[in-house]
Amino acid sequence: MRPNPDWSELPLRPEVAQAQPYGAPQLDVPVRLNVNENPYPPSQSVRADMAAAVLAASASLNRYPDREALDLRQRLAGYLGHDLTVDQVWAANGSNEIMIEILQAFGGPGRSVLTFTPSYSMYPEYARDTHTTYLTSPRTADFRIDPATALDTIVHQGPAVVVVARPNNPTGTPTDLGLIARLAEASPGMVVVDEAYQEFSDQPSALDLLGQHGNLIVTRTMSKAFAFAGGRVGYAAAHPAVIDALRVVRLPYHLSAITQAVAAVALDHATEMLAGVAELVRTRDATVERLRQTGLDVVDSQANFCLFGPLADRHAVWQGLLDRGVLVRETGPAGYLRVSIGTPDDMDRFLVALAQVRKGRDT
Ligand code: PMP
Repeated sequence: MRPNPDWSELPLRPEVAQAQPYGAPQLDVPVRLNVNENPYPPSQSVRADMAAAVLAASASLNRYPDREALDLRQRLAGYLGHDLTVDQVWAANGSNEIMIEILQAFGGPGRSVLTFTPSYSMYPEYARDTHTTYLTSPRTADFRIDPATALDTIVHQGPAVVVVARPNNPTGTPTDLGLIARLAEASPGMVVVDEAYQEFSDQPSALDLLGQHGNLIVTRTMSKAFAFAGGRVGYAAAHPAVIDALRVVRLPYHLSAITQAVAAVALDHATEMLAGVAELVRTRDATVERLRQTGLDVVDSQANFCLFGPLADRHAVWQGLLDRGVLVRETGPAGYLRVSIGTPDDMDRFLVALAQVRKGRDT
């Protein structure tokens, strides 16, 4: 090969050759409402404890970290409650990595993963990266999962893995626990309930069902409610045999000693780290109401974002907002945009900018 090959000359897998790296634009603008982050940073005292934990962990950075992340998993089990024990919990670098590990263990060539669309835009990428066939079943007009369609698809397609984002991203739609139980009952493979936004929801967690279905996996993240997106910790709860399967496919020492130490501090201060959740739920409900008052359709949301539209030219609205220093996400059904819930001040600025863009004037 030439010393300076073009991308097109690399011997890439065809499905990778056609792809772009995933990710929303990371732009340094005043109001960032595009990746469902928590707008409230850790307090000074939590930051001081995190710094002390990093200093302590750095004393043994010549050694590999605890491969089993036992202390962190123990704390995560404690946070989840439900009498979960350490052997029922697994942790990785974000729930992204958890999901890849699930498909490495249960998906793969000749197997399929089913999701209910529109849903989280990384799901097809997890499938591609693990050589798993990606199947979709459409949600209803109000973005719910129709039980008959879902069960019929599972029976006829026999996916190795079913993934339900609950609440769903990008719509914020809940899914009834009774339906999750029926999907788990009907599925020949694993059923993953992605509860990345569970703390913002008023529905009971699918953790309630774990004891009854050996094929159920509940995934969570510290990136959203926990205000720890930069720390990169996601986790899963399931039967110990399922956790053992994830331990087989994980890379050795995947979770750095620094990550484990800082996440332990965050969990020790769980009440404080989660303090913004109630405020974010109030701000979400107020934002939905205010958007509706402007004549827009807004999907009922149980998460820290909402989907609004229809907009004749959503890209123009997205750009108009960005020109005014407000970054939202161009995702989901045609004509709709998703806005993450920030501070009340962020939402005021977003709504003012949106009104200006829709009126087609600058001030
Ligand atoms: N699942 C869903 C539904 C999400 O929206 C996200 C983040 N946007 C994730 C998983 C991944 O989160 P993380 O890797 O930060 O834990």
